[in-house]
Amino acid sequence: MKAAFVKSPFQFEVRNVPLRDITPDEVLVKIKACGVCGTDLHTARTEAKEFQPFGHEIAGIAEKVGANVKGIKEGDPVLIESGSYCGECELCRNGRADLCNKAPNVFTRVDEGLTMGFAEYLIAYRQNVVPFDGMSFETASLVEPMGVALDLAYTTKPELNDDVLVIGLGPIGLMALRMARLMGARRVFGAARSASKARIEMARKFGADDIIFTDKMELTEYKFPRGGVDKIMVTAPPRTIQDAIKVANIGGVIGFLGIEYGEGANITFDANYFHFRKLQLRASYAAPALWFPRCVELIKSGAIDAGALITHRFGIDDIAAAIKMVAEDKSSVIKAVMVD
Ligand SMILES: [Zn+2]
Ligand SMILES: [Zn+2]
Repeated sequence: MKAAFVKSPFQFEVRNVPLRDITPDEVLVKIKACGVCGTDLHTARTEAKEFQPFGHEIAGIAEKVGANVKGIKEGDPVLIESGSYCGECELCRNGRADLCNKAPNVFTRVDEGLTMGFAEYLIAYRQNVVPFDGMSFETASLVEPMGVALDLAYTTKPELNDDVLVIGLGPIGLMALRMARLMGARRVFGAARSASKARIEMARKFGADDIIFTDKMELTEYKFPRGGVDKIMVTAPPRTIQDAIKVANIGGVIGFLGIEYGEGANITFDANYFHFRKLQLRASYAAPALWFPRCVELIKSGAIDAGALITHRFGIDDIAAAIKMVAEDKSSVIKAVMVD
């Protein structure tokens, strides 16, 4: 089968690789769609020292099902949890499956010689396979990142009558913005660079009352109706947390999600101000990947039009050009998905 590999900076190879037999606890999935994520760009820029498999927003068809696998049969449309929980460790038994990362995940399976989502097939451990129906494969590939957005929303907890700000309007920020609206926010603001035209238009469609162009004005200069905002979801580099702290209302909550290694990972802020304003800064990290059935329902009910985020589609042979485009085209790309 074909599988794509990445090495930094921005080198890609599509190779023919052997596909081994599945064990009784595994499912062979014919990959029908795999989304390009910000994490893939990060891997392509700096992370991958050697050529390595990638792609973790996966939807496909169960082609072969191991003898021990229950609830999935051959031909079923399935999603892949990028990481699952084990159900057996202390954290799981204490009701904190959300903190468990002991189950197999798509990333660590590479250590066993397996490939990931940018390939024709995936050998998945049974725990990672979730059946779905009622939507196209490409739309279904948005369930994994939607779980990430839901983790950010549940971490930050926008409530009825809150004014909410979302900083960074990539696919995760856009879905989190929509969730804030659905969770009862009074007003929802987005902050992004003015060049992100498609994303800004989508933010308005998803219910943003106004967009603040961060290349045109400081966040702190914007005249928020309540002086500031009650809840802030940050899907932008860590330095934006400093601005978030300044525009949070007293008692405000800031949720942060993102990776930026190197110097950018270290920020400073005024702890006295933080204290007297009774602010909270919370980390969101959607590993294990929870909420798949809920995200499927949110899409099927029409509550979140995830499919609308897909602006670009490509085949596996064009992966190098597709990922370069995602990295460079700030204006028209929201989500690019590899489709079979
Ligand atoms: Zn991702
Ligand atoms: Zn566990």
